[in-house]
Amino acid sequence: MYELLWLLLPVAAASGWVLAKRDVRRAGKSIGALSPEYFKGLNYLLNEQPDKAIEVFVRMLEVDSDTVEIHLALGNLFRQRGEVDRAIRIHQNLIARPTLSKEQRAQALLELGQDYLRAGLFDRVESLSLELIAMDAHTVRALRLLSDIYQQEREWEKAITILRKLQSAGGEAQHAIIAHCYCELAEQARKKNNDDEAMRLLKRALAADGECVRASLLRGAMAAEAGDCKGAIRAYEQVEKQDPAYLSEMVPALVDCYRRSGKLDALSAYLERLLAAHGGVTPLLVLVEIIRERQGEEEAMSYLSEQLRTRPTLRGLAKLVSINAARAQAEDDSCRTLQLVSETFEHIISEKPLYRCNTCGFTGKTQHWLCPGCKHWNTVKPIQGVEGE
Ligand SMILES: [Zn+2]
Repeated sequence: MYELLWLLLPVAAASGWVLAKRDVRRAGKSIGALSPEYFKGLNYLLNEQPDKAIEVFVRMLEVDSDTVEIHLALGNLFRQRGEVDRAIRIHQNLIARPTLSKEQRAQALLELGQDYLRAGLFDRVESLSLELIAMDAHTVRALRLLSDIYQQEREWEKAITILRKLQSAGGEAQHAIIAHCYCELAEQARKKNNDDEAMRLLKRALAADGECVRASLLRGAMAAEAGDCKGAIRAYEQVEKQDPAYLSEMVPALVDCYRRSGKLDALSAYLERLLAAHGGVTPLLVLVEIIRERQGEEEAMSYLSEQLRTRPTLRGLAKLVSINAARAQAEDDSCRTLQLVSETFEHIISEKPLYRCNTCGFTGKTQHWLCPGCKHWNTVKPIQGVEGE
């Protein structure tokens, strides 16, 4: 309530000032003669009746060239506060006035489009945006609105067309989002068992954005599924130069392909190179398993301890403890302690998020290409550092 009061006071004061200024012009009254309506509105605010106060303030704001800005500001204020219905009423009221200049009308249409977007009224956003583009007014912002609704409605082909227009009209790079739209289409094609179409779309994704990790992961998964281990390995290994932050996403699938082709030496060499260049506990744990299989537990543990000294991670330490706990045979106190420590580690790790958005801080246990928090693409990545990779 008090927050609203502080937000509304400047608007109320400005409206009083505008009315007073007009009174001066029209009737020669002194500046400072505020409308009685203004005090009525203020009284409602002070009596914690914001709804009535708002009605009064909106009513006293007769739409003319002096008050258009105030209407726009008031509408935006409501939208920002999440009161979308009120914002829509104010902006619709504004647009209905025949006295608006072309520029004012375009501005009000744009604001109304943003209200509709917040309210989820996508068909109205679409028609408003198209109207603005036809008027050649606020084209870039109208294209952005269209791109938002087509993405939210998962109309990926339309989104691609608009994003390309936005790229040439606004000069902002949209290639990463265009690539995700192609990946979405590829996933749809894959669900319909149309693998050729899916592959064609993934090629287009990579042509739009050579650094599209998602396209490489999908290509790898499709090749692996078709039994083409060589093709899958080639696709997965692209991730390293595209964005090493996503290496942990492809390592398990890559390991599977190498194992299926019986190329353990090549796998070890590749993982060692990855580890030296980028660190990461996921390749480390695979290497530890390979050493354990081929050279035994002693070797695996000494390799793991050595690595943990230079790059300590929770998951690495948990692995070390779990190997030790499994090795301890005797039912003595130290063995039980090791088992308890190992279980505690597992518990701590299972509670930790695996991914974090580097824009809004959203965290979760599953990978999202589009952040559910801030709606940015490519910002949710595997967590690095001691508690992550
Ligand atoms: Zn985010």
